[in-house]
Amino acid sequence: MTAEALINVPTVTLNNGTQIPQLGFGTYQIAPADAKAATLAALEAGYRHIDTAEMYGNEKEVGQAIAESGLARADVYVTSKLNNGFHARADALAAFDRTLDDLGMESFDLFLIHWPLPAVGDYVETWKAMEEMQRTGRVATIGVSNFQQAHLQRLFDETDTVPAVNQIEVHPYLTQETLRAFNTEHGIVTEAWSPLAQGNVLSDPVIAAIAARVGRTTAQVTLRWHLQRGDVVFPKSVTPARVAENFALFDFELTDADQLAIAALNRDERTGPNPDEFNYIP
Ligand code: NAD
Repeated sequence: MTAEALINVPTVTLNNGTQIPQLGFGTYQIAPADAKAATLAALEAGYRHIDTAEMYGNEKEVGQAIAESGLARADVYVTSKLNNGFHARADALAAFDRTLDDLGMESFDLFLIHWPLPAVGDYVETWKAMEEMQRTGRVATIGVSNFQQAHLQRLFDETDTVPAVNQIEVHPYLTQETLRAFNTEHGIVTEAWSPLAQGNVLSDPVIAAIAARVGRTTAQVTLRWHLQRGDVVFPKSVTPARVAENFALFDFELTDADQLAIAALNRDERTGPNPDEFNYIP
């Protein structure tokens, strides 16, 4: 990536030496009809990292937006994910080809196993297929999403590659201290999905009081909290003013006391499924 592409946004170095912008744009629940315009608006606002997935049904539109943005392909970091139902090796390799086709790209940056689906198939076989994909050079980096410690431990024991990232649900009501520490101990970067708990934390009085003091919104304070913890985030919005608001995070800082006060809001409350119990195949 060029320096210009990364104005203001720090990068995090992954375990294969590549760098990921710490702030990106999430596209879950952005309908295909809206996804191209929303992604273009995010790129115009300065985002250079887009998080999509086969499951979201909008890889094509995300790819079109990047192609039409006028930005160099190398200046936009692209993540996609292997959908549930394609965990067997041959299915995974075919799904990877479809993702590349849909994105309209010869290669992209980061591919994740979307869910471990512990009661369905075998995610170790899937991970070995991910290693094959990476060896072709058509994806630079591979990682996982929604993996718990036991799932990661099996990959460490039975395969050659440590995932570069683990994308898990994290926000002030689900701070995930234990799993985040386990990721860090193994050189895995934590990506925090639903960083705003899909909006649930935005009226929290503790966060609101900090926001009033620093003259920012509750969304900005929450996202800044994640960044200061070192996690990668990609909030989602289709409202242009919010897309811009969620990007304006690099000209203020929270104190250590603020960081602790927000972390103390933890209630182990998920907005999404528990990965140990989720075995859904579309
Ligand atoms: P989020 O926590 O980013 O919240 C998004 C919602 O918050 C929006 O729909 C909007 O209603 C509200 N919002 C956003 N910015 C706001 C602002 N500035 N002011 C007021 N309200 C605002 O939730 P998310 O979309 O679920 O998560 C972000 C991204 O994480 C997704 O788009 C997707 O890319 C990824 N994700 C991954 C998984 C996974 O299993 N790997 C699961 C869920 C999400």
